[in-house]
Formats: sequence, structure tokens, C-alpha cells
Amino acid sequence: MSNQKEIQKQILDAKENRWIKQQNYLKEHGSTIMSFKLNIPHWPKCSEMITSAFDISLRNFSELLTEKNILFNFLSREETALGPEAFIHCKEVSNKIKEITVNFEEEYTIGRLLDLDVLGQDGKPLERTTKRLCLICSDISINCMRTGKHTSKEVREVFDKMIISSLEI
Ligand SMILES: [Zn+2]
Repeated sequence: MSNQKEIQKQILDAKENRWIKQQNYLKEHGSTIMSFKLNIPHWPKCSEMITSAFDISLRNFSELLTEKNILFNFLSREETALGPEAFIHCKEVSNKIKEITVNFEEEYTIGRLLDLDVLGQDGKPLERTTKRLCLICSDISINCMRTGKHTSKEVREVFDKMIISSLEI
């Protein structure tokens, strides 16, 4: 792909902008700040289907917070070179929000495609207590990444199939 370098630059810029944004939110609101995004392998990171699946997931997640009587407000929701992402400010301790996000990632239909980070005061995301599993072989996903077991295109195919079937329900 001839524009691969350009895409990589856009991705790096988007990551840097996200970092700056997170620091500003932490300064302005304190904890708990969380980011709601998809873990999108390969590219493009934006499409109509991805946006639909993202918005439905975000709506379901915010309904869950309401059910749990957690006060929250949306700080932003936008599409960047990394895909759609939203920032949420929750009036609850970060460990409790982390527990809710991990459960949502494990139980929601396309939870395995979601990437929900809860930020600590230092701006770093809180660690997961369980390892994420690979979409293709269900091994621990970091193992597959380290060994390059699957190409990003292969993982993307599985990702797209899961997105499509979640929209057909
Ligand atoms: Zn795998």
C-alpha cells in the first residue's frame, strides 16, 4: 500500500492527541476518566459499520452505568485515525469502574472487540486482572501478537464478521 507511511503517521498523531486530551481531562475533572473505543486491527479504522457498532455498544454501556446508579457524563465522542472513541467522566472510584468495564468486555456481544481503559491519576490505564484472548485461536492475545501467529488482515476479517453479525441481531 503506497499510503502506508501516511496512515502510520496519522495513527501516531492520533495517539499523541489522545494522550494530551487524557491529561487535560484528568487535570480538569480528576478521576474517574475512562475511554471507550474499539480494538480495530489493520485499517481502515473508520467505516459506517464500525460507527454503528460503536454507538450501539456505547449506548448499552451507558445504560449499564445508569442501572448501577453511577453518575457520569460524556466528555467527548469523535472519530480519529484510530477509529471512533468517547471519553466518559464517572463519579465513582476507578477500581469499581475498571471492574465494570472488564465485565462488559467479557459479557457484551462484541465485548471482545472493545477496548475500555480506565485512567489512573498518572494518566496510565489501570491493568486488567485477566488477559485478553485472541479473536482467532483463543490463546492469550499478547502471545499471538508477539509471535506474529496471525496477520493483522486475518484478525481484521474476524473482526469484520463479528461486527456484521452484531448488527444483524
Ligand atoms: Zn491467536
